[in-house]
Amino acid sequence: MLTVRCAACRQKLWKYDKVGRGQLLRCHKDRITPLHTLPQKDGKIYCFCGKPVGIEKGTSISMISGAFIHSGSKRNY
Ligand SMILES: [Zn+2]
Repeated sequence: MLTVRCAACRQKLWKYDKVGRGQLLRCHKDRITPLHTLPQKDGKIYCFCGKPVGIEKGTSISMISGAFIHSGSKRNY
């Protein structure tokens, strides 16, 4: 599992079960483990510090480059 954090304040946002290699560009909602109910406005998902971290895309969240960091391990197969 990856832990996705806000790049600005290091708040943990959610946990994500990423499959495969490569950059984290989007998070599929069925593989997200929510840690909080994050604020949403105008189709964007915000950290509690007020920085937008992702864009709501229905079944997934499109991640805003540079707005988040992640740690942990990916599943590779
Ligand atoms: Zn933040």
